[in-house]
Amino acid sequence: MFEKILIANRGEIACRIIHTARRLGVRTVAVYSSADAGALHTRQADEAVWIGPSPSNQSYLNSAHIIAAALSTGAQAIHPGYGFLSENADFAQACADAGIVFIGPDVNAIRVMGSKREAKILMERYAVPLVPGYYGADQSEEQLTQAARNVGLPLIIKASAGGGGRGMRIVRDFAEFGSALASAQREAQSAFGDPAVLLERYVENPRHIEVQIFGDSHGNLVHLFERDCSLQRRHQKVIEEAPAVLLSDIQRKHLFTAALEAGRAVNYIGAGTVEFIIDQAGEVFFIEMNTRLQVEHPVTESVTGLDLVEWQLRVGAGELLPLGQDAIECRGHAIEVRVYAEDPSQDFKPSTGLLQHLRLPVPSPHVRVDTGVGSQDSVTPFYDAMIAKIITAGPTRVEALQQMTRALAETEIVGVTGNIAYLQKIVAHPAYQTGGFNTHFVEDVRGDLLPEPAPAPDVVLMLAAMRTVVGLAAQAKTEAARTAEPASPWAGLTGFRLNTPPRFEFHYGTGDVHIVVFLTQDRASWRYTSGSHTESIEACEVAGQVVRLTLPMRTIQGAVISTPREIHVFYAGDHYRLEPVDLLQSGEVAEEVAGKMVAPMPGAVTAVMVKVGEQVTRGKPLLVLEAMKIEHTISAPFDGIVTEIRFAVGEQVLAEGVELIKLEPSAPALDADSAS
Ligand code: ADP
Ligand code: ADP
Ligand code: MG
Repeated sequence: MFEKILIANRGEIACRIIHTARRLGVRTVAVYSSADAGALHTRQADEAVWIGPSPSNQSYLNSAHIIAAALSTGAQAIHPGYGFLSENADFAQACADAGIVFIGPDVNAIRVMGSKREAKILMERYAVPLVPGYYGADQSEEQLTQAARNVGLPLIIKASAGGGGRGMRIVRDFAEFGSALASAQREAQSAFGDPAVLLERYVENPRHIEVQIFGDSHGNLVHLFERDCSLQRRHQKVIEEAPAVLLSDIQRKHLFTAALEAGRAVNYIGAGTVEFIIDQAGEVFFIEMNTRLQVEHPVTESVTGLDLVEWQLRVGAGELLPLGQDAIECRGHAIEVRVYAEDPSQDFKPSTGLLQHLRLPVPSPHVRVDTGVGSQDSVTPFYDAMIAKIITAGPTRVEALQQMTRALAETEIVGVTGNIAYLQKIVAHPAYQTGGFNTHFVEDVRGDLLPEPAPAPDVVLMLAAMRTVVGLAAQAKTEAARTAEPASPWAGLTGFRLNTPPRFEFHYGTGDVHIVVFLTQDRASWRYTSGSHTESIEACEVAGQVVRLTLPMRTIQGAVISTPREIHVFYAGDHYRLEPVDLLQSGEVAEEVAGKMVAPMPGAVTAVMVKVGEQVTRGKPLLVLEAMKIEHTISAPFDGIVTEIRFAVGEQVLAEGVELIKLEPSAPALDADSAS
């Protein structure tokens, strides 16, 4: 086994590899770009080497820098993860030239399978069933146009070197062929550096089933069963599972035979995936082979009980496959969802910024979470916006789905927009639950999956309002203690008004409505009123972000997280955003709180003029941010105490709206009377 490996990747996959390496006693070297200087993978590895500026073509795609990092740290092997250089034959060759083991198949297998066109030519020789089409070397327009006529409609044009669902065009009318071809070639050239395309018959409503295979350098080759990755959006997988639903034993056998045949054709070593589509009549067609570890490998690990990264390291070090085919079993069912920082209501636009709050499901024998970020980390615009993968398992698909429903309900993301609600809607959809879905599912039921901003129910408003009141009370206590006047009216909840019971009025924007909430203290309890609804709150406990209220017949619990502009409440698996209209501060000040304590644009912090704990008066300059050669001074919008400074001089603020400094208003600014 290796003593030390370098991981040429970032994010969750780098963390995933570190996890297994550590378990096996293998030391790890992480590489990182400027944007990832403080990233989780950089922190978790035994050593970390900076390999360049944030853009991936200057860092994670810079083979020379990565190989130099391996040589300088004495790493014996490089694990490429997925994406980046994982399917780059030149990189594998460069590793070999430098005397470093590339953890993956040999250069020839990568090269052949990296070209969908050449792969199909080879597969044809091995009698692997192919989607009918044209995959010839002649790429002239006349030849491709003639070939398109032969293939027939509808057809799909694919970038031969493509990946990640990119570089594809569906053609349903020959009149569109010329322009579709030109644009596919342009995208193929710019994204993959190779304009070559292939044409395939476009299979309507197929399912995507793939087979995990594994080979060693001693000629052994096994399969680790299949995965169903039909749940896709724009040809990109969203939810994967193992085993595949609604697959007959005959189809399964057929897939395994074809996958092993494909592996044998290139003397495959290491982890690989042979991808197929299955048409509505049940016929199986090879589409491509990925010569690397796959994003969705955890579902296979779950049903086989094996660690595929461990197998990769063993095989890479020249060992035999740990198990023979007969000893590999598939048990139970596993489902993986990809949690992305993207906004489904804005056409899935990636959402970048600081993860002000991130709560992921608690791991258990049925729940696994793979992530590369934690709370207070940033999602930057430079790389894939994946936050985590949640994998759940159970003896049956129904149970795995139940676990997933629960796991998604436990997931809380504040600071960037996530796709949790979207995933929840898919998982709860009857057509998904019965397993009768194909690659067009999310398109077909699009209307059912769109997030509708639901107004917050009373319990949610109670949680938010009580959290604010408790916060104000705590602040008042601190202030009273600080001014050494324990008898001050700020010393307790009851003191907000001296003669009448404390009464708070909160205004929230939720969904498209504006709601007014009143909380009135009634001896030891509180009375909540909103519209015609009144309810008594007998007790309120706050622990971190979790608020628990005792109501007359029940207790309710939720998490409440405040950001400069919003209050986020997570309750019963749903995420509510409230926009507070803060009546404790004048409209003008509230505006400033919302507008000025956050970065007006991405930039570098060039000066910090205050320290944590410092008392500042309104207007005092706190921090200077330089962006596009212009300096922005962030000043105190009110009198207060600096409780947190999130950036040091020289640090880069990666997104607009990121909170820079936390300022608690000094108690005198809270005018108790105006709260009633
Ligand atoms: P999988 O087949 O493992 O599910 P995906 O197609 O989803 O893989 O891609 C895995 C990751 O690699 C994603 O982050 C994707 O953006 C990236 N990726 C895939 N193909 C390429 C490529 N050719 N070049 C760069 N990145 C790629
Ligand atoms: P990539 O390298 O981007 O992963 P693939 O060839 O694996 O490209 O195709 C990605 C997805 O596109 C498939 O999972 C499937 O949903 C769809 N697709 C690919 N080829 C066809 C086809 N011939 N007919 C219908 N859908 C296809
Ligand atoms: Mg693919």
